[in-house]
Parts: sequence; structure tokens; C-alpha cells
Amino acid sequence: MSFRPETLRGGGANHSPGMVDFRLARNSVVSEFRKGRLSRIDVCDAHPELLRVATHLGRPAPEPCPICESPGLVHVTYVFGPRIPASGRAVSSQAEMVKLDRGNRELTAYVVEVCPECSWNHLVRSLPLGRRRREA
Ligand SMILES: [Zn+2]
Repeated sequence: MSFRPETLRGGGANHSPGMVDFRLARNSVVSEFRKGRLSRIDVCDAHPELLRVATHLGRPAPEPCPICESPGLVHVTYVFGPRIPASGRAVSSQAEMVKLDRGNRELTAYVVEVCPECSWNHLVRSLPLGRRRREA
């Protein structure tokens, strides 16, 4: 089972060069859940690899989990692009992000919120890193 941006809730074919905010999509999923139109099984389906990374590299999110209200919600950043494995690379620190952004590769970073308690997961935003941004 491989891990790709398409497997992130709200992800998919989005090739916009700028930052993309997924808050609206995320809020509509949360709202459907609260109305009972989606179950926990529908929305709490984080990939095992994503959960593992969230536990080790996640940064505390500014708000609790929208599904189970756990304060343990975290943000995980994945980077995709040339010479990075198809499964992406989880970024462990701000320093690493800065380094990737200064590089010559055109990369895309995906920030995902993940709840290790209930496995809720959704894209928060995606943003370009590296050369593309400097030339834009
Ligand atoms: Zn949760």
C-alpha cells in the first residue's frame, strides 16, 4: 500500500501553482459528519503510514480534533517532487522546510491534519516550494 497525495482526503489533481487552502472542503466534511451524513468510519480512515508519521513528526495543531475533540490533533507536512520517493517525504522540521524551499527543485508541500486518537485526517493546505516559487 503506497502513500500518495491522492490518498489524502481532499487531495487529488490540483496543479495550481500557488498555495491552496483546503479549509472549506475540510469544514464541509466536518459539517456532514456532525449532521450524521458521514460516519466515523467514513472520515477517520488515516493511512497507517500517515498515523505513524503523525505520531513521530506531527506538530501540535492550533485546535482540537473536529471529530473526537482530542487535543492531540497534529499537522504533518509531506513534500513531493523530483528525486523524492513517490510516496513523498515527511518533513521533520522548519529548518528542513527552509532548506527545501531554497533548493532548485520544484516541490509541493502538503500539510495534513491528523488525529492519532480517532484517525481523522484532512488536507489543510498545499504550497509550492523551491525554484517555482522564486520564479513566479
Ligand atoms: Zn480525533
